[in-house]
Amino acid sequence: MSGARVIDGQAAAAAILAEVAGRIASRKRRGATAPGLATLLVGDDPASQSYVRSKNKRASEAGMRSFEHALPANTGEAELLALIASLNRDAAVHGILVQLPLPAQIDSGRVIESVDPAKDVDGFHPLNQGRLLSGGPGFVPCTPLGCLHLIKSVLPAPAGAEAVVVGRSNIVGKPMAQLLLRESCTVTVAHSKTRDLPSVCRRADILVAALGRPRMIQAGWIKPGAIVIDVGINRVSGAQGASRLVGDVDFEGAREIAGAITPVPGGVGPMTIAMLLRNTLEACERAGG
Ligand code: NDP
Repeated sequence: MSGARVIDGQAAAAAILAEVAGRIASRKRRGATAPGLATLLVGDDPASQSYVRSKNKRASEAGMRSFEHALPANTGEAELLALIASLNRDAAVHGILVQLPLPAQIDSGRVIESVDPAKDVDGFHPLNQGRLLSGGPGFVPCTPLGCLHLIKSVLPAPAGAEAVVVGRSNIVGKPMAQLLLRESCTVTVAHSKTRDLPSVCRRADILVAALGRPRMIQAGWIKPGAIVIDVGINRVSGAQGASRLVGDVDFEGAREIAGAITPVPGGVGPMTIAMLLRNTLEACERAGG
């Protein structure tokens, strides 16, 4: 018998998507514009294609307009920047999502900076990152935003909790740490150079694993009763050569010790798209559209 409550990210995401769809329907009833989400995909990486397809599908289901731009792998940076400039000017487009990673000939940093911060629904633009740091209004990256929502679903007031974030990427680890700091948690950020990671993890009342290492975080690294949020999405080979997705946490072991834990799949993953659509709706509302 396991002690941990398994946090249902699918259900939490469905509730957010229903709320977003309701707000869009009421905008349409009063004759206001529907939010528009533009997605840009360069190349034919199957995982990226699948992420972009789901984002567009969910956007349409919620009543948004979705504008799909699939460009060949040899697209030049200038061409991509020109497309983004035209989407920045397009009043029907409220959110612009550039699927990462981009091919090597394109400078991702330059592309991210070219998106109008008011349409940067991924929250990757330096202006939005800065606003997250300084506490101003802006867009927060969707995955950490989704993680915080799941954390608060089991711990509505996390102030004072010891939080450990494993991973310091710009899209997950760092903004996650900022969000937890904003909630007045005591935050530690661990990474590949951290000494004695197991004992750092054992301090955590809230442990967020975003390192991209299949099942690396073991049951013995977890403080009894902790909230464990597993961001990792790792494809590993399973029985008879079939592959399956696992997180960064050894789920079966950890659920015996944790107080609450997210599964993979069905935990953080669905929340990312839900938060993307919520950010897009907010971009539309802020634009007065
Ligand atoms: P990155 O590769 O950009 O960053 C990984 C981070 O983990 C780095 O900061 C790295 O440290 C740290 N790290 C790597 N190995 C170790 C280790 N052995 N011990 C401690 N720290 C380590 O990954 P992302 O942040 O983009 O993604 C992390 C995971 O989350 C991936 O599995 C990814 O697929 C998944 N993901 C899931 C999403 C979702 O929607 N659910 C969305 C985005 C990502 P250092 O900085 O020192 O190199």
